[in-house]
Amino acid sequence: MSLTFEDKVALVTGAGRGIGRAIAESLAKEGVTVICVSRSESSCGSAADAINASGGKAIAKAVDVSDGAAVASCCEELLEAHQNIDILVNNAGITKDNLLFRMSEEDWTDVINTNLNSCFFWVKGLARPMTRKRWGRIINITSVSGIMGNAGQTNYAAAKAGMIGFTKSLAKELASRNVTANAVAPGFIETDMTADIADAAMDKILPMIPLKRMGKSEDIANMVTYLASEEANYITGQVFTVDGGMAM
Ligand code: NDP
Repeated sequence: MSLTFEDKVALVTGAGRGIGRAIAESLAKEGVTVICVSRSESSCGSAADAINASGGKAIAKAVDVSDGAAVASCCEELLEAHQNIDILVNNAGITKDNLLFRMSEEDWTDVINTNLNSCFFWVKGLARPMTRKRWGRIINITSVSGIMGNAGQTNYAAAKAGMIGFTKSLAKELASRNVTANAVAPGFIETDMTADIADAAMDKILPMIPLKRMGKSEDIANMVTYLASEEANYITGQVFTVDGGMAM
């Protein structure tokens, strides 16, 4: 099946590396103009350069997604330049794992701000023009941790579960304006985020995955690209796990 995208502009957070970069590249291959957001200039800059060098259209924006004021002013600036951002992918995320009794309030707050509050900031900044245009796609990258829970990740799982409730509520609020909101929940994907998992821990994780291997960033990008396309126009308020069967 070929996917349809007509003159669309997407903003992908955390597009500098890993899953976000694969999503940005995949959308760009479909002809979508992509705004690559990440924390550091060099990271989103190199993602945008690579897309432009391979014939796509991208621009880079270094913004701390946990900073509501910075996100709001970035959205204003972008909407002046582009009139409308049609596709928003909230992908930027961090982990600061620890068992609850050892978790600092700072680590709790950082993870909630970066993973969950950021979604609120970007949607507040970009969704209104989508509703006026009667077309929009909001895709939030959650995690199987937000569905199943995970020891050592109370902060992360709370943020990711929060994203699911946020997505479903948003879907109900925006449906009458033809704006869809869905979540994608990756399992274990090979990126910098999972690069530090020790071999011993991996030996315990792999048996829990029916497909017996980690996923690739492209596996998530394929699902996101489909959900962003015209063809996914009747899908909203859903959570799609892409996890090798782990959260069955
Ligand atoms: P990476 O650590 O590889 O990349 C994270 C990206 O997010 C980077 O581009 C980083 O920017 C950006 N980012 C982090 N914090 C901020 C911030 N405050 N402001 C702006 N950008 C920020 O992560 P993954 O690709 O592995 O993960 C992507 C998403 O998928 C996350 O939400 C994660 O929780 C989720 N996920 C990942 C899984 C996995 O197994 N990898 C499993 C389940 C969910 P910079 O490059 O500038 O540092």
